[in-house]
Amino acid sequence: MNKVFFSGFLLIFLCCAQEAQARPLRAFVSILPQKFFVEKIGGDLVDVAVMVEPGANPHTYEPKPKQMVALAKTSVYFAIGVPFETVWLAKIAGTNPNMLVVHTEAGIPKIPMKVHHHEGSPPEHGHAGIKDPHVWLSPPLVMILAGNILEALLRLDPTHGSVYEKNHTSFMKELLGLDKEIRAALRGKGKNVEFVVFHPAWGYFAQTYGLEQVPVEIEGKEPKPAELQYLIQYARERGIKVVFVQPQFSSLAAQAIAKSIGGQIVFVDPLAADWATNLRQVALKFKAALK
Ligand code: ZN
Repeated sequence: MNKVFFSGFLLIFLCCAQEAQARPLRAFVSILPQKFFVEKIGGDLVDVAVMVEPGANPHTYEPKPKQMVALAKTSVYFAIGVPFETVWLAKIAGTNPNMLVVHTEAGIPKIPMKVHHHEGSPPEHGHAGIKDPHVWLSPPLVMILAGNILEALLRLDPTHGSVYEKNHTSFMKELLGLDKEIRAALRGKGKNVEFVVFHPAWGYFAQTYGLEQVPVEIEGKEPKPAELQYLIQYARERGIKVVFVQPQFSSLAAQAIAKSIGGQIVFVDPLAADWATNLRQVALKFKAALK
């Protein structure tokens, strides 16, 4: 009886030890689109948690105590350089010295965050100071993110290296296809066609596909009445009929502009979970808006 009990116990022990080995690698990312990227390469071998919860703003996010606790069981944190990381990444890293912190945006040449004009002056192209963090909205730049993700997974879990390599290769093919598709959709729109957007998240997208974004927001704030007036004038002169906004920000200014130019508000989400489908839809919305 004792023997049977003992061998049964041993069996359970062996089975669990094996299961522990097959357990997915725990990863954390800053924003939802990164979950899409990491899952493309990690597949079932990686379990991905997202820091900035759906609907929240990655510029000002504050991690929940529950999330800080969950970091203790995490093997890797994939950062991407969104503004909340400036304040929080050191604290995040400090919660777990065994956790690898990967800067997936490493190697991407950052462009300055687009800030718009002041009263009466023409739009500024670039501004000293803040670098644009929205690198995940351009497929060629996502290839760089993907390379950094692959490198980290190979380092953390070399046993499954060939799986990660294979997944990475097919993801790169997918990205190339998507890039081609967007290029084809926006072809013939002319060079540097302007679009008005509340929060300037589409700088790299615009750069990649030959468009020019005109932000409504000025250094993270709603524009003052004079600036708003200038924007309305600007849009009217150029026959712009659409003001793009994103679901994470409500904007009275964007609504006011759309109303004044007899145009409409169109939602484009920079933080959608299904990154590829969303970007395809965004391209079609830009295509429809840019005459
Ligand atoms: Zn943003």
